[in-house]
Amino acid sequence: MKGEMEILNYIGGQWVPSRSEDMQDVINPATGEVLGHVRLSTAEEVKNTVDAAVGALPSWRRTPATERVQYLFKLKNLLEDNFEDLSRMITMECGKTLEEARGETRRLIENVESACGIPQLMQGYNSEDIARGIDEVMIRQPVGVCAVIAPFNFPGMVPFWFLPYAVACGNTYVVKPSEKVPCTLQKVFRLMEQAGFPPGVLNLVNGAKDVVDGLLDDPAIRAVSFVGSTPVAKYVYSRATAGGKRAQCQGGAKNPIVIMPDADMEMAARITADSAFGCAGQRCLAGSLVITVGEAKKPFTDAIVEAASTRIVGYGLDEKVQMGPVITQQSKARVEHFIEQGEKEGARVLADGRGTVIKGYEKGSFVRPSVLDGLPPAGEVATTEIFGPVLGLIHVEGIDRAIELINAGRYGNMACIFTDSGAAARKFRYEAEVGNMGINIGIAAPMAFFPFSGWKDSFFGDLHGQSLDALEFFTQKKVVAERWPKEWTRKF
Ligand code: NAD
Repeated sequence: MKGEMEILNYIGGQWVPSRSEDMQDVINPATGEVLGHVRLSTAEEVKNTVDAAVGALPSWRRTPATERVQYLFKLKNLLEDNFEDLSRMITMECGKTLEEARGETRRLIENVESACGIPQLMQGYNSEDIARGIDEVMIRQPVGVCAVIAPFNFPGMVPFWFLPYAVACGNTYVVKPSEKVPCTLQKVFRLMEQAGFPPGVLNLVNGAKDVVDGLLDDPAIRAVSFVGSTPVAKYVYSRATAGGKRAQCQGGAKNPIVIMPDADMEMAARITADSAFGCAGQRCLAGSLVITVGEAKKPFTDAIVEAASTRIVGYGLDEKVQMGPVITQQSKARVEHFIEQGEKEGARVLADGRGTVIKGYEKGSFVRPSVLDGLPPAGEVATTEIFGPVLGLIHVEGIDRAIELINAGRYGNMACIFTDSGAAARKFRYEAEVGNMGINIGIAAPMAFFPFSGWKDSFFGDLHGQSLDALEFFTQKKVVAERWPKEWTRKF
């Protein structure tokens, strides 16, 4: 149909249509319109993609790092020039508001900027005279062909937690986007082509599980970065490492926010609402469980219900909209199921998003912000990642109990605290078992020059994405001891 995007693979510097018969619609979750069709690439196409990356490797790793990052500088400028176009595409295929999409595009670019420092970061170190006349040096070399498997909720940004660092370090790369949102990367790869990366350095292959398995089983791929749900993260980690690959696999989350009685309730509720309902709750750092302490219970509950009920829901391209849809109709049904389940577990539904229909967007998969009060802490709803705009409230008497509940959870992606007390904040920072933390902050997303941490069932691996962790992940260290005795040297 007119205006629908043809989703192609990008292999060895060529745009190629997949020949697969297995095809899915890409749907705008706000309007229900078909944006394009994605074919789930065949095993042969996956092999061709990896072969292209293998072919480009020898020359790319010999290209000086100072030269490699010139492509990233060009890409950064092209991304800036196309900032609005990319952000609009993110909104259209993923549903988040344009403002949220702009935030995503900015984070994407920041990772390109951060990776431009690789020529210095990639330096090794050395010791002269580890024994008489013997020197030892450590140099960093690329790992080889690497791949990223991405989730739907950040179609542009997530691959860039890894990709710029990988190629700056001299690796060649394969990207497998989520089949639900393949359009943004079509545009980003057009810009990478314009930036002039040599053919085969960056490759794009579309598909779902079979494509992932093809990548995991190909011995030419030396390192895999994955971001998605916990069961798949676990699966990818075990299958990749069983094949001797490096793997870093980020999984799901259930992020608690503790509200102390001394917090500024108005500010805490406003920021918590942005955390819980921003991106329609489809952020791995979304606050999805609030634990109020003592007297915070009533004022916070009142304020958050007010914030939930007044949030403007609609199509994200409309600038006044504050929350878009969830990704699919199936996702909407799943989120609604969890609201019902919360009720069955004894919670009171203080704001109810079930059955949401937005005028003019009747085919959209909208769920209004929902608040479940008094969830049992060990129940299904309080312990499951819902990935929608549903905030559960739990009330406890003291900070020790709040931290105990957090540490009993299976995930460790993020926890936040709102308080006026330095002592409470420090205790929380010291004791809560999570990899990303916010103190009077609702979404503690690390900048590109910090690692995107995550503990427990939110992460499988050792080295995280972004910054120095990415440098470590995408290089292997070679330690050389050398001696050059004068008497062994013919002309000196
Ligand atoms: P998902 O696990 O369904 O899919 C992620 C990727 O894995 C996709 O590319 C998909 O094609 C592929 N995939 C799906 N099922 C597979 C299977 N059985 N075998 C092999 N590959 C498979 O995740 P999603 O729904 O796209 O994304 C949402 C999830 O991602 C949430 O759980 C969210 O918390 C998580 N997430 C985590 C982080 C983080 O930093 N920890 C960041 C963003 C998203």
